[in-house]
Formats: sequence, structure tokens, C-alpha cells
Amino acid sequence: MSAKQPLIGGLQAPAELLLRDVHALDPRTGLDARRDVRIRNGQVAELAEPGTLETDGEAQTLEGEGRLRLLPAFFDPHVHLRTPGQEHKEDIGSGTRAAAAGGFGAVIAMPNTDPVLDSAPLLRSLRDAAAREARVPVGVLPAITRGLQGEQLTEMAELRQEGALGFTDDGRPVRSAGMLRKALQYQRLCGGVLSLHEEDPTLSREGSMHEGAISAALGIAGIPTVAESTMVARDAALAGYEDARVHFQHVSCADSVEALAAAKARGFRISAEVCPHHLLLTEEDVRGLDTRMKMHPPLATEADRVALVDGLRAGTLDCIATDHAPHAREEKEVPFEQAPMGTTGLETAFAALYTGLVAPGVIGLPLLVERMTAGAALFELPTPSIALGTPANLTLVDLDAEWVAGEDGWESRSENCCFAGRRLQGRVLMTLAAGAIVHRDRALASSQDGELAGAR
Ligand SMILES: [Zn+2]
Ligand SMILES: [Zn+2]
Repeated sequence: MSAKQPLIGGLQAPAELLLRDVHALDPRTGLDARRDVRIRNGQVAELAEPGTLETDGEAQTLEGEGRLRLLPAFFDPHVHLRTPGQEHKEDIGSGTRAAAAGGFGAVIAMPNTDPVLDSAPLLRSLRDAAAREARVPVGVLPAITRGLQGEQLTEMAELRQEGALGFTDDGRPVRSAGMLRKALQYQRLCGGVLSLHEEDPTLSREGSMHEGAISAALGIAGIPTVAESTMVARDAALAGYEDARVHFQHVSCADSVEALAAAKARGFRISAEVCPHHLLLTEEDVRGLDTRMKMHPPLATEADRVALVDGLRAGTLDCIATDHAPHAREEKEVPFEQAPMGTTGLETAFAALYTGLVAPGVIGLPLLVERMTAGAALFELPTPSIALGTPANLTLVDLDAEWVAGEDGWESRSENCCFAGRRLQGRVLMTLAAGAIVHRDRALASSQDGELAGAR
């Protein structure tokens, strides 16, 4: 019996669309030029010199004026859709609408739901729900251990047959090295990726923020960066010893980047993700005790932030993931130390990174696009690209557009975004996922007779 399709859901209606004179950028193929792009029956049917393609019965035409950028749709290997059991925070519909609004063409959902996604029947029902409700395709990582308890492995082979992309106990580490070793041995047999949240709970304890001068000044219990980096080093060594495939989640500090670089130099089959908030914010942003700045792992020092940007540039950090973690307003509107960890991120990831890293010249746009799409291949899925004959997985952005994050509300059910209220540059105007138009910005909504005007 062959395993089920790993990505489920998305809109069914294939797009019929002509994009005229857009600036197409696909860092892997080297495409970086003005193009007319015809999408027919959801596929990229024609790529031509600007001004050469005429409407051929398409329902919609969009003028890019040589200015709007067409990119491969982003891929997020780490989101919390909160279904089942926590739909007051998010559900598959709202979470994937947020993804589409952020330019993401597919996402991977985490299993720390209620109940925990740790069995084949639960995986089947989540996939059924995604088939009905998901705006963009969703992949799933069920739990490594039952109930995320760290004591008993899930039925990994059976879950793989049911379409699991891999496994994670995200929200928690796999505390016991022996248990993780067993999981790595099963991973090698049944395939998929083990995605690890790295934290030594005997070091992180009751901490609410990064341990350092600011936590001391505020009198808040801190989490030292070694709570992450010692576990990264341990588990990279185990992955190498078992020749298993491991992905490190939300890497947040310089010591972890160093441990990963050393393990990669030894040829271990490991990869790593980094989140926009860790690339852009530091412990300084926690001073005001805004609970939207409370996440795990915590925002660390400026030196850590710079090391993460360097790691992203060098490829030690392979991809960007949002760790989109919605929480209801009443859950976050409590004193800092009592608030749950997590920030939303799907709707701001591209603009925040463009504003913070690309616009000031820290990294180039091609690198950002490469890292925002690289997660797909890490989970053995096709990489989104702008290529003839492929299903349209595309994002159209206006790099000149400025907006205030959250000003017009959110697609997510929750609003605990660490970038809320910030002025950002770069706006996603349209997203196509698996051949369908899944998001259209209100700037494009002033359509007449199906004709879409490029936004100014
Ligand atoms: Zn985590
Ligand atoms: Zn997470």
C-alpha cells in the first residue's frame, strides 16, 4: 500500500488569469525579468516578453506595470492551526486564510492540539477537515510520542501511510535521549522528517524571557540560551550517529547556529528553520512587557540576532518558518509571566523581513525568497517555482506599498502578532496555491468587469 498524498485541501477552482508585465523572480532558475504570464486551467501556460500576450478569454487580467513582483509562493513548515480543540484561537479555515494573505501556498500543521494529534484516526479526521476547509494545502506532522508525553512512540509507520510528512513533539522537547534515539531508528525505517523543538526543561524551568541583563532588571525569570543550544548539540550528534533525518525548529541563538554548522560540516542529514521574530527582534523589545513579545524560544540578544541573520545567509539555517502561534485576546491580556508563549506570523512574515532585512540591504530579495520557499524540499515536497507546465503556486507583491500591520484587521482569528502596529513595506497582493487564486488584496478588489487594476 502506498502512502497517501501528504498535502490536503486548497480551493478547487483552477485560475484563468493573465498577468501582464510583472517582474518575475525565481531565485532557483535565475529568472529575474519582466514577463507576461498566462495561467490557464491553474497551470503556468505561457511566460513571454512583456507586452506580447493578449487576453484570451481569461476571467481576469492584471497589469503589473513592470513593477509588481511575481514570486514563487512561500512555504511554511511550522504553523499552529489549533484544530482540533482550540478553535477559539484558530481553525483550519482562518489559519489557512492567514497563510494565503501572507503569500504562503502551503503550510505544515503542528500536533499540539487538544487532543494531541498522535493516532491514525485523529490524523484522518484532521485531513478530512483540511480537505473541506483549507484555503491552501496543509501537511501534517503528528506527534513523535503519545500525548507529547515523551514516554511511548506513536505508530510512526502507520501515520506515514496516512500521509504524515514526519513527526514532532513541538511545544515540548523529546527530553530523553534514549527515546529520541528510538524515534530516529524508526524514522530511518519509515521515512519522513523528525522536527525538533529544542529545550532542556531543567534549564528553561519557569522562565518567561531571555536570561540576561534585561530579565534581571525586570525581575523576571529567564531562559538561558544554553537551554536550546545544548539540546541542539545533543540531538545533532544523535542524528549523525543514527544517520537519521532531523529538522531543527525555531533556532534562536548564536550557540545553536554554531552547533548546527559543526554538525552540518560532518555531513549529518540535518536542516534548520529560523523565525521572522528571531531575525528582527531582541530582548530589548520585551522591556515593555507586551505579551505579544513572549514566545518560545524567547527573543535573545542583538549578537544572537546577528548570528541568525549570518546563519540564514550562509545556509546553516535552511529556511524561514513563522511558528504562527495564535492565542485568544483574553489569554494574552494577562501579566507577562502568566501569558502563553507565541506570536502569530503568517500575515506579516514577508513584509516584516522585507522591511527589516531586504530594504536596508542586509540580505537580497532573491535570498529571502529562496529561504521562504526552501521548507518544501526539506519535507520532500515539490519546491514552488515559476515554471511552464507547473501548477500555479505564486505570490504577487508590491514592494513599494506601505501598510501598518493589523490596521485593517487580521485573517487569523487571533491578533497576538509581535509586529502589530509597525509600519511595514511590501504587501502581498495576490496568492495562488495549487493552481487556484486563494487570496486577493483589497487593493485589487476594485475590479470592473473582471479586470483587475495594478495597485498603486
Ligand atoms: Zn516549538
Ligand atoms: Zn511551534
